[in-house]
Amino acid sequence: MTTASNTPISAAELRATLTGQVIGPDDSEYDSARALFSPLHDRRPAVVVRPADSGEVARVVTLARETGLELAVRSGGHGAAGHGVSEGGIVLDLALLKELEIDQDARTAWAGAGLTAGQVTTALAEHGFAVGFGDTGSVGIGGLTLGGGVGFLVRKYGLTIDRLLAADVVTADGQLVRVDADEHADLFWAIRGGGGNFGVVTRFKFALEPLSAITGGMLILPATPETIAAFIAAAEDAPEELSTIANVMPAPPMPFIPEERHGELVILGILVYAGPADEGERALAPFRSIAAPVIDLLREMPLAQIYPPDDPDYRPLYATRTMFVDTVDRAVAATILERIGASSAQMPAIQLRVLGGAMARVPADATAFAHRESRIMVNVAALFATRGEGAVHDAWAEETAAALRQSDAGAYVNFLMDEGEERVRVAYPGRTWDRLAEVKRQYDPTNLFRLNQNIPPAAA
Ligand SMILES: Cc1cc2nc3c(=O)[nH]c(=O)nc-3n(C[C@H](O)[C@H](O)[C@H](O)COP(=O)(O)OP(=O)(O)OC[C@H]3O[C@@H](n4cnc5c(N)ncnc54)[C@H](O)[C@@H]3O)c2cc1C
Repeated sequence: MTTASNTPISAAELRATLTGQVIGPDDSEYDSARALFSPLHDRRPAVVVRPADSGEVARVVTLARETGLELAVRSGGHGAAGHGVSEGGIVLDLALLKELEIDQDARTAWAGAGLTAGQVTTALAEHGFAVGFGDTGSVGIGGLTLGGGVGFLVRKYGLTIDRLLAADVVTADGQLVRVDADEHADLFWAIRGGGGNFGVVTRFKFALEPLSAITGGMLILPATPETIAAFIAAAEDAPEELSTIANVMPAPPMPFIPEERHGELVILGILVYAGPADEGERALAPFRSIAAPVIDLLREMPLAQIYPPDDPDYRPLYATRTMFVDTVDRAVAATILERIGASSAQMPAIQLRVLGGAMARVPADATAFAHRESRIMVNVAALFATRGEGAVHDAWAEETAAALRQSDAGAYVNFLMDEGEERVRVAYPGRTWDRLAEVKRQYDPTNLFRLNQNIPPAAA
């Protein structure tokens, strides 16, 4: 392998100097090590390095800076944009940083960036605590937290970043810094929503909430304009303890769904009430009464059970677009159903998440996530079978987003694909962009961390 400055480095040489894992093209695990959750991004890095600790992270960052090799940073590898893998460069994979230190008295935990949402949720639940992550257990806490983190506890406890107290960050100059509200406060502001632009976070310190059981789970209802609008209205009227995700889609061939209903258009709802079970039952009742459910699996359960077991072989091809809307009434719901009907994908889906509650009470400029007033997040997705179909489904996703667009022009950075600078700017509107560019200039003036939803440094 030859670097941009013609300095040869090899996996064998790196292996001799690091205690973590170093995987090169000649190694048998190379293909699995370079793979991301999304198989769309089939790139061949020069090397994949899994550092054993933050000191080794700093050495890899320094190596990338000194050699000029492109640097891809990844935690759980679920980023849809594919920034977790480089063609010809270095992949810095934080998968080995899995330590979790829980301080029960202080109700805080330091969590290594290599942990997944499911792993942290399961471990915290053993102590009766929770942090809200997203809807999928295998997503890494690294990318999820740095973009914001919208999940099943969003209305009750806010975004994941709203529970972030501190972080350890390796900056572009190879220094390890602790950032919090007092130390490097500007950098702490920027990493709460600004993604991987500012350094490599090796671990996060979260404030823990006392919560182990929830009432909720899956509720599948037939999808019509009336039921979709009623679901959203019920979610908006619900107490903040209740957060919901409504996936409008053909009923998937799951074993617990009656076979004759597979393919029927449904609302596959996931609901989580974070509070006493009797109150939860009351909060869920309006959803149960919208229509005779196709299936009703709502019950009291440990929070961790909201994540089905991971299937490491599940790597779907998908096209997606993300946006916010103000309202989903019957007319909007009818458009949603029309658009699903117009898709030729194996599985089209339009996901609706009613926001508000604790998330909306944080001032828009308190963190780099500026969309505090957005009311409903919409994710349009098409899962498809073969690479060749990609362009068709991408066009469908784009047209669907255009058909649903209302007054809210924002987007959540963590659901963006590689859609160009204009879309990154939409994720960081107005003053947020300027502030982020200024922090970037201070901490990464040469844009070493550029393989991400990039915010170039402000001009000096
Ligand atoms: C199936 C699925 C479900 C999802 N559900 C939700 C959800 O419910 N809520 C939600 O908010 N999001 C959700 N997401 C989006 C998810 O938050 C983002 O894709 C996130 O970037 C994934 O994090 P990761 O660490 O797994 O990904 P990676 O691909 O490893 O990381 C994505 C990018 O983040 C940066 N990065 C990651 N870790 C670090 C680090 N430690 N230091 C510096 N930079 C880093 C890098 O730029 C990297 O390219 C979902 C994604 C998928 C695929």
